[in-house]
Amino acid sequence: LPKAEDDHDHDYVNDVADTDHARYQEGQLCENCQFWVDYVDGDWGYCEHPSFTDVLVKGEGWCSVYAPA
Ligand code: SF4
Repeated sequence: LPKAEDDHDHDYVNDVADTDHARYQEGQLCENCQFWVDYVDGDWGYCEHPSFTDVLVKGEGWCSVYAPA
């Protein structure tokens, strides 16, 4: 799968430090989101949210449909 670029969907960012989204709360990362599956390629892994099944997302990324695992 290709690696996601910033703004892939839902205000996604590859580096959570780059977001200023109102929904973001400290400590939230793709790797602790309920849609996160696992790392598959270095810092990148699978997200099972329907908007991200066509890309790899970064463990230290974030998007606005984040949900706690
Ligand atoms: Fe990352 Fe969760 Fe958004 Fe998937 S749904 S891109 S794991 S924050």
